[in-house]
Amino acid sequence: MLVVDSKACTGCKLCEKNCPFSAMIVVEGTAKALENCTLCGACMNVCSEHAIQIERAQASPEELARYSGVFIWAECEEHGDRLVPKKVVLELLHEGRRLAEQLGEQVKVLVLTDGRPVDLDPLFAHGADGVIRYENKLLDRYSTDAYTTVVSGIIAAKKPSVFLLGATPDGRDLAPRVAARLKLGLTADCTMLEINEDRQLVQTRPAFGGNIMASILTPFSRPQMATVRPNVFQVGDAAPGRTGEVEDFEVTLNKGAVRTRLLEVEAVVEEAVESIENARVIVAAGQGCQALENLSLIRELAEELGGSMAGSRPIVEAGWIPHTIQVGQSGTTVSPDLYIAVGISGAVQHVVGMSGSRTIVAINNDPEAPIFKVADIGIVGDAMEILPVLIREIREAKAAA
Ligand SMILES: Cc1cc2nc3c(=O)[nH]c(=O)nc-3n(C[C@H](O)[C@H](O)[C@H](O)COP(=O)(O)OP(=O)(O)OC[C@H]3O[C@@H](n4cnc5c(N)ncnc54)[C@H](O)[C@@H]3O)c2cc1C
Repeated sequence: MLVVDSKACTGCKLCEKNCPFSAMIVVEGTAKALENCTLCGACMNVCSEHAIQIERAQASPEELARYSGVFIWAECEEHGDRLVPKKVVLELLHEGRRLAEQLGEQVKVLVLTDGRPVDLDPLFAHGADGVIRYENKLLDRYSTDAYTTVVSGIIAAKKPSVFLLGATPDGRDLAPRVAARLKLGLTADCTMLEINEDRQLVQTRPAFGGNIMASILTPFSRPQMATVRPNVFQVGDAAPGRTGEVEDFEVTLNKGAVRTRLLEVEAVVEEAVESIENARVIVAAGQGCQALENLSLIRELAEELGGSMAGSRPIVEAGWIPHTIQVGQSGTTVSPDLYIAVGISGAVQHVVGMSGSRTIVAINNDPEAPIFKVADIGIVGDAMEILPVLIREIREAKAAA
């Protein structure tokens, strides 16, 4: 229920102008919600007098059952003059499709654009039944206010049972804002999603420093919201030619709802480091590499294999490599074809970020190191002796080929 404090309300009409659904009016100097109010919270957000409150009672099982559909936010990246869904969206679609089939519901994707064309074919090919599209010039770059207003509006109006977002920098910004605006729960960085016998989404993620896996339920509100890091799920097989409906959604988004302006983009000047998120080969260094100068061998091996260098958290903390290439729970999750762990013990917080790799090779001088439990190939010995031999062998094999 939307409650207006008539004493605090000044009748300024900011809520009226910024309601995405034209559901607020000011009558005799006081704001009033109309019947088509979705409780999306946009008015509450713009009210500088804090005169609007939304009270949400705990939903009954009957109310919860009215929510239907697995929705996914299609975060896009620029490809020339087009927008293309990020890989994590396709990963979420594969997982979302599986959940939707268990629920007997549809998978829909939220596509926001400033007017540039968006490649919708991959969304349908990877499992979307429908696309809900919204276009507005104010969406030319990600902004918390604009995206929260539009996404909250769509979610409040469409009432999905599940809403998934990629745990990218923008996804991590957007998800909690939408959850707070709609007073929903949110589980961040899930590593597993399942539907239980009560048709609830079981959201599993590491907790207490990765020492336990917590299974989280959202029994009293809908949608059940979760973020998942890139590379946690696999991209499924595409079904080219598969199509679905595209619905153009109508909501009002005014400049007044967007409180921040991007004035300038300034590039950070630092040593160019390749992103590890989509690397096919990764050679990762751990504390067992012992000294900064030994990382040249890691870099050399990565280069020979056409891959990228990465590392564990202690060597980031030592300042040997930037955090952008840290693998693990508080770094990046990767799933390359080949992951070579050099002098890495295999702590759970590291393993959670690389166990999806297709082939794992571990080099460690301790035969009992936990990394060998997840490795496909284990080499026991001093990494600084093994790496030069490995590099030489690879060079010779390449020359012979
Ligand atoms: C909340 C939280 C989040 C965390 N997030 C992350 C994260 O995102 N990523 C991450 O990596 N860690 C993370 N950690 C830290 C994690 O718990 C471990 O401390 C860390 O992964 C250990 O790094 P390491 O394997 O490089 O070092 P160590 O555990 O010190 O292991 C070094 C290994 O090198 C081997 N070794 C030593 N010398 C040689 C040699 N000459 N040749 C071959 N092998 C050798 C040793 O046998 C040992 O197994 C997190 C911890 C917490 C509490």
